[in-house]
This record gives sequence, structure tokens and C-alpha cells, in this order.
Amino acid sequence: VGDRKDFDTETESVCPFCGVGCKVSLKVKDNKVKYVEGINGPANEGRLCVKGRFGFDYIHHKHRLTVPLIRRDDAPAKGLNVDPGDLSTHFREATWEEAMDLAAKGLIKLRDEDPKSVAGFGSAKCTNEEAYLFQKFIRQGFKHNNVDHCTRLCHASSVAALIENVGSGAVTATFNEVKNSDVAIVIGANPIENHPVAATYFKQFTKRGGKLIVMDPRGVGLRRFADEMLQFRPGADVAMLNSIMNVIVEEELYDSQYIHRWTENWEAEKAHLKDFTPEAMEKISGIDPEQIRRVARTFANAKAGIIFWGMGVSQHIHGTDNSRCLISLALMTGNVGKPGAGLHPLRGQNNVQGASDAGLIPMFLPDYQTVTSDDVRRSFTDVWGGGDFSNEKGLTVTEIVDQVYAGNIKGMYIQGENPAMSDPDVEHARDAFAKLDLMIVQDIFLTETANYADIILPASALYEKNGTVSNTNRQVQRVRPAVTPPGEAREDWAITVELGQRIGLPWDYKDVSEVFAEMKLNMKSLDNITWERLETETVTYPSLSPEDPGQAIVFGDGFPREEGRAKFTPAAVIPPDEAPDADFPMIMTTGRQLEHWHTGSMTRRSQVLDHVEPEANCSLHPKTLRRLGIQPGEMLRLSTRRGSIEIMARADRAIAEDMVFVPFAYVEAAANVLTNPAIDPYGKIPEFKFSAVKVEKIDQQ
Ligand code: SF4
Repeated sequence: VGDRKDFDTETESVCPFCGVGCKVSLKVKDNKVKYVEGINGPANEGRLCVKGRFGFDYIHHKHRLTVPLIRRDDAPAKGLNVDPGDLSTHFREATWEEAMDLAAKGLIKLRDEDPKSVAGFGSAKCTNEEAYLFQKFIRQGFKHNNVDHCTRLCHASSVAALIENVGSGAVTATFNEVKNSDVAIVIGANPIENHPVAATYFKQFTKRGGKLIVMDPRGVGLRRFADEMLQFRPGADVAMLNSIMNVIVEEELYDSQYIHRWTENWEAEKAHLKDFTPEAMEKISGIDPEQIRRVARTFANAKAGIIFWGMGVSQHIHGTDNSRCLISLALMTGNVGKPGAGLHPLRGQNNVQGASDAGLIPMFLPDYQTVTSDDVRRSFTDVWGGGDFSNEKGLTVTEIVDQVYAGNIKGMYIQGENPAMSDPDVEHARDAFAKLDLMIVQDIFLTETANYADIILPASALYEKNGTVSNTNRQVQRVRPAVTPPGEAREDWAITVELGQRIGLPWDYKDVSEVFAEMKLNMKSLDNITWERLETETVTYPSLSPEDPGQAIVFGDGFPREEGRAKFTPAAVIPPDEAPDADFPMIMTTGRQLEHWHTGSMTRRSQVLDHVEPEANCSLHPKTLRRLGIQPGEMLRLSTRRGSIEIMARADRAIAEDMVFVPFAYVEAAANVLTNPAIDPYGKIPEFKFSAVKVEKIDQQ
């Protein structure tokens, strides 16, 4: 870091990694970020985790893309085969004029043949304005809704259940609201590693006597602070949650007044829960009925209880059912809409909330307004200057990849996403991308996905951008450029605008603030939130007046559903898509590590983070390792029905003896070579959290 006083400028922005949305001050000298400090944002109050504090230098990495690139005519066949240190074997440098001209002509040609032959993936790493423009690019430019982003891979099932049952896809309370709770449930989440600053609030909550209940098949770090740890069998979430609710019903611990005033379908839920006794469910979940009773009484008797969940809940074929159970648990105990109570899916990426709000999803326009409504579409096309687009819900991430593989989608525009690492059964996705006639990738590095590109457009990192982002708390914050992008790289919104103009869209944005102003015309969530306000403050939506900093808690006076009532949707037990068997006897789950972010493209290029966690590794229980004759530090082979990887073993007593945990940040041992692409029927999210796997020792000669 050097001399902490030795900088030229200070710029306020927001951390580019997780959905906590920590505010930062960037200290810059000679157009280089020297160090980062946490400042007083509402979500972090000056705190930062290791990624926010030390993970900034990737923006100055030698692998940054600095000029547009075009695939060479004599390049080898498309595959994961480009050396990031020498791109010249596959790509030649081009001017922006040439690259944009080629991209636009290619898109127009495909559109003339069949508009549905083009699809787009936007990014939760980009700003709200960039997400809005990207979905508009596909909808206005190609007249359909085949546009999606990585929310499909993280909380799509949570959003589906929330919209269905409470009428809104966002959290009902900020995570900071835990300060007013008596009891907090954290399920299927590992905040100490994945939302580290949020985890500090959970730890403080236990220090002042709050009761923490942690539920996870893995013994996540937060268990050390928990009053109750329920380490249930993988995939048994619904059985366990229904048994907790069965106790609340049987012992009449529910809040009759709240249920009567604010909900519907209670009788059906009550009848459904009858068979889910703790004793009957123990066989599935493995949790002692006495502990289920204790937890049910603790949560139901709390003055205020709050529920947090993560991808351990959402990434299952029954992910929507898992969230339905959590919503029902909160509703039956009257734990929505009051201080210290609520439902909070901990959102993953820094702007996955904002990108979803901005309509970067195939079934909804901005503010979750359905594409099937003629009135809704008209309200947008009126603002966009006429035309119409399909009233059919579009294809999701994995459905688009399948259509690429089948040859029906021939062109893709991918902005800042890395599906050649992040998709389930990723070799299938890579094979699909190799078939595309036209692949335009806009990014800051030659990602695994960019290996397959025909045209690469060099874009900007968050610390080089102007715009807004929205965190897991519904807090809208400004990001600002602290440094200029390297070489000829440009901000993503400006690239999309020029490409839009070149395919004939009547776009005339001069500044990103004009995009924000347009968003406000059709997004009630942004009422009272202005660009000017965001210059000096963070505003939580909804904000009820120009002076209101925003509502940390919503739905105290009813839900945005018919008659203002939330709904109980009973959930049945659905087994995981593939059961362990003689060939694949163990269970694999995947996730993140503290030091690495998602597909690793940023954090593995960050010196400190890469130094702390340099090598692909997986974790197993020490007894399992002994049984297999494997020492920690040795290499092992993991195989599923999709493929195999070789990876270093680590011992971790918190992992169940029949499980293996594999982080998904490492290309050399890509977890998603192994994962199951089966999807939840509602949220269309893949079952990343459960694959039947074989673990073998590799002979080390
Ligand atoms: Fe960044 Fe999340 Fe860490 Fe905050 S908690 S510094 S937003 S990675």
C-alpha cells in the first residue's frame, strides 16, 4: 500500500463484489488506485471485508483488454484454448469503427433472417443504467424477450416465490434490521465468506443476546455464533421447514390475528402441514424432533424474527418450494412488516438486485412488470418511441444455451457475464458457444466465454464507471469513475448505445444520467429518487417523499397483491434430481470462498487475494479422506455423469461425511464441469447444490 497520504484524488464509489454494497473511498495516484477505505454507507458503516479492502488491483492487471479484437480468419477452432498473455494467435486488433461495424452488420443480418436467432446475456456486475439499456437493446432491437443474466443462477427461485406470495421480488427488510430482532434464521447461506460485512451485523446481534438459528447441510462458519445449528441432509430443506411449521400449527403458536388480517390460503397450508410431523420428517432431514420443536417455539414466540437465505436454498430443483416455506414461516408467525422482522434473500452480486429491477430478465420489464400485458408493453414503447415486441415470456439462461446448442440461436451479445464458467454442465455450454455464427463479448478480460468470441469489445471495471447500483437492501447508490479505463476501453453503457444506434435504434443518450431519467418514467420504485439526490446520499426504495431516505421495512400496511394480502403456498417434498448410487455414491455441493469472487476473473487477478488462495481445492470430512486413503494436499478426481476434474483435497470437519464442497472460481478444476443442469420449474434455476459424485484418489507416482 505504501504511504497512506500519498494520493492525488479520493473518489466515493461502491465495492464491485457482493450484494452487501459497501461504500468505499478510492485513493488514486497517477491514474492508479493505491488503496481503498470503507466509508460510512448505510450497509457497511465504514466496514470492508478482505475482497473490498484488497481486491481492487485487478483493474490494473496486464491482462486488461484495451482495444477491440476480431477473431482471425486463420484462428484455431473455437474452444477454451486462448493464452490470456498472447491473444494474437486467435484475435487481431481492430479499430472501434471496424469492430462495431462488423458487430452491427452481423446482428442486422441475423435479425433479417430471424430476429429470434439473436439473444443476449447482460450482467449483474454492470450498473442499473447498463442493465436497463441492455434489455432494451434486445427488446426494442429484436422484438422479443430472450434476454437474461446471472440472477437465473442465484436467486431466480427466491424471486419467483416472493413475487408469487408477497407480490414483490425484493427483500422486505434490510439486513441491518437484525439489530431489532430477537431471533434470526440464516439458512443455506455462508455470510462469513459470501457476505462478510453483513455477517458482522449477525455476530453483533448474537453478542447482545439475539438468538441465532443456522440451518445448512454444511457446517458454515456462522455456526460458532449460533444457539441452534441444524445440519440437515442435503436437499431435505422442505421436509425440515415443513416439520417446524407443523409444530407451530399443532401447538397453535401461530399469529391468528396477522394471518386473518393479511394473508390468504391459510386453511390449505394448515391442512397440508398435518403430515409433516418432526418424527416423520426426521427420516428425510436427519434432524432430531426435539430440536425441531425447540426451534419452532423459539421462532414463533419471538417478538420479532427475521429470515435470511442464500443459494443453498435457491439452487435446487425445489428452490421455489424452499422459499415458499420460508415465506409461510414468516407469515404464520406475523414476522413481516414490523421492526426486526422480515424476509431477506441475501443477493449475490453487487448489482443483481438492480439488474433484475431494471428488467434484465426474460419474463419481466423494469419493476417486474410482466411482458404479457399489452398495457405494460405499451407504457414502455410509448417512452421508447413506438414499436412493439413479443408478449411471450423469453428464454432463460440455460434455455438460451440449449437453443444455441440446437442451432436455433445463432448470434449472442454477452456483456460482462461468463457463462462458459458459470453455467451448469459447462462443457455443454462451451460446445454450444463454439457453434455460434456470431458471438460478441463485451468485458474487461479475456474470460473463458471470450475464448469463443468473434468480436471482443473492451469495457470498463466498476471503478471506471458512472452510474447507480442497488444492493441486497434495496439501497440505490452512485458509483463514480476513480480512474480512466485503460487504452481504448469504454464504459459498457456507451458501447451498448453505439451498437444500438448502428442496428437502427433511435437512441440519443449523451450521458448516463439520461438513461436513469428514462428509467424513472416507468419505474415507480424510483419515485423520489433523483440523480441529484444520489450525488450526496444513498436512498432505499421505496422512498415516500423527496426527504424520505427510504423504507428499510416494507409491507407493514399490506402487500402489493390482490386485497393487500400475502399468500401461503404449500410445498411438497421433491427429492433431488439425481440420487447417489453405486457409481456416484457421494453428494457434491458448490459455492464461493471468502477470497474469490464467482468465476475468478477479477479476484484471481488480484495479487493479495490470489496469494491467499492460489489453488483449486475442495473440502471433505477428514474421516472421508482417511477412508479413501487421501492426505490433505493430495490431488483427487471428482466425477459425475457430466465429466471429471482433478483437484486438491482439503480436510474440513464441518462437511458431512458423504459430501464434498467444491468452490467454482477455478478454471483449471471447474466445478461446473460436474454440476447438474436440471432446473426448478418455476424459477428455472439449476440444481447447483446437489450432484451425485464419485471421489477417487489419483495415483501420485
Ligand atoms: Fe465488498 Fe461484499 Fe466485502 Fe462489502 S462485504 S467489502 S460489498 S465483498
